[in-house]
Amino acid sequence: MNLEQILLTRAHNQCELCQNPNDLRPFLLESAPAAESALLLCKICRAQAQGESPMEPHHWRCLADGIWSEHRAVKVLSYRLLTRLGTHDWARELQEQLYLEPEDLLLAREDLGPAIDGDDTQTPTLDSNGTRLQDGDSVTIIKDLEVKGGGFTAKRGTLVKNIKLTENPKHIEGRVNGVQIVLIAAFLKKT
Ligand SMILES: [Zn+2]
Repeated sequence: MNLEQILLTRAHNQCELCQNPNDLRPFLLESAPAAESALLLCKICRAQAQGESPMEPHHWRCLADGIWSEHRAVKVLSYRLLTRLGTHDWARELQEQLYLEPEDLLLAREDLGPAIDGDDTQTPTLDSNGTRLQDGDSVTIIKDLEVKGGGFTAKRGTLVKNIKLTENPKHIEGRVNGVQIVLIAAFLKKT
């Protein structure tokens, strides 16, 4: 079976977000053509997910089901879409209910696509709860992190004061064990 056939079977010949049965094609989250990184979407969902059509908030009410999917690709894309719909309270509430494994959360934040209002050109740096981080904030580490080249582990619960944002919205700089290191924002919590 090819990817499309695998997804058609898994999705019971319906769009995995809105249940539309027409014009279904695989949508890849990552370059890897694996079923777990892909989902089956109808034309309407594909066009908006890819940013070719403007987001129609009403259409995305279907994400109330998507967030409970057993398939990670459906949940990751739902997270990304809800981020783009973040100006709506219902979208923020759904995103709070959406549970993703830490690796999937990183993936979900990788490519957010154009925001719904389209004028927020700078990608914010967000902590594990989606709270925006700023220079000078204090954060705690939520997971033991191996410090590459540092020869130590930054322990879960460690407080890092006076962080600095970096060019990469996924990373911040901070001092741990007296060493200035780069930390992944998704593994931090603002205090
Ligand atoms: Zn659809």
